[in-house]
Amino acid sequence: MKAVIGDFLIDANGVKEKPVVLVEGERITKVGSIDDLKIPSKTEVIDASGSVLMPGLIDCHVHFTGSKKGGPSKFSERFENRLIRSAVQEVRQLLEAGFTSVMDAGGLVGFHIRNAINEGIIPGPRVMAAGRYISVTGGHGDTHYMPLEWVKEGRPMGWGMDGRIADGKDECMRAVREQLREGVDFIKICTSGGGGSLRDPPDIPEYTLEELKVMVHIAHSWGRRVMVHCYNPEGIRRSVVAGVDLIAHGNLADDVSIKLMLKHGTIVIPTMSIYYAIKQQEERSIQNSHLKSRVRKMFANVFDDTRRLHEGGLTLALGTDTMGIPLAFGKNALELELYVEKVGLSPLEAIKIGTLNGAKAMGRNDLGTLEVGKLADLIAVEENPLDNIKSLQDERKTKLVMKAGEIYKNNL
Ligand SMILES: [Zn+2]
Repeated sequence: MKAVIGDFLIDANGVKEKPVVLVEGERITKVGSIDDLKIPSKTEVIDASGSVLMPGLIDCHVHFTGSKKGGPSKFSERFENRLIRSAVQEVRQLLEAGFTSVMDAGGLVGFHIRNAINEGIIPGPRVMAAGRYISVTGGHGDTHYMPLEWVKEGRPMGWGMDGRIADGKDECMRAVREQLREGVDFIKICTSGGGGSLRDPPDIPEYTLEELKVMVHIAHSWGRRVMVHCYNPEGIRRSVVAGVDLIAHGNLADDVSIKLMLKHGTIVIPTMSIYYAIKQQEERSIQNSHLKSRVRKMFANVFDDTRRLHEGGLTLALGTDTMGIPLAFGKNALELELYVEKVGLSPLEAIKIGTLNGAKAMGRNDLGTLEVGKLADLIAVEENPLDNIKSLQDERKTKLVMKAGEIYKNNL
């Protein structure tokens, strides 16, 4: 048994002073105060006095790509190199920063990373992987600038973020079943154009309602959730009516689509960090002027868009859409800073989005808070994030990282 002691405990339920968290095996067995909880003898005491205990952070939208920091992207390297970099570096960066769970929202790298972590070959966060994201021909998951035959062939094309093109109900069902055959944890579908797409802007709805319905039906029959990449109201309407569980982005949602998502309990994962990071670091490097003006426009509205989703009463979960570049793995808590500084939420509301709501998006009621019976995903940070939410981006301030009762970092 382990006992973790801190100055404060902060989770979606609020703040506790002088907490003690007892952990047996992989689960939390007791949470109390140092003043009245008796620590059993022979307990390993982890003294994080001076620190704040929190649940492990959850990012519901990453793409493991193994991108080289500051280096050229996409097709400049072999897929295998990227796989190694991701397995060695990206998973470590996430753990060091206190991210104990992530959803890999599509690509070929994340799936292998998940397997290696689950086999215990490499340390890393809990990964839910989507495998290939499914897209219409010419849609957000199609690599437009490559010959169509090459994209359809489906070989890993270096970048590691390869889609599966599927059109028509039969092909769509086959595409979902192929991902399930690989053992994916959830299904990712692109149901609208995208901010970074060359040909298909975000206001274009892609799949038809009929195509979406059959894909969701197969996924749900297998007990898997469905996440869609989607921006515009019509794309959201089709997705929600078809039974999709999670909407990634959702920027262009109007009042009608917000009400529809609320009625269906759809969780939305806005991705402010990616626009922010592109704006900060890469805007100058985007050559295509249409693409540049589109990214600018989306950046200009993204905080207002997210505020509307929040004020509409929707459950929002943290998602960065990081691909390693321009936002490095381990800097995912930038999203929480943006919720507080730009959207106007309280730090505690932001922390809920980065913990409990992430667990809800993953469909895991055994994660997200530090409560009895849940898995002991626990971090200790030396600065109080309620005073400075930005401090969560400094991995040096994350002193302790525990995933399912096992310690992965201890700099106490
Ligand atoms: Zn994405």
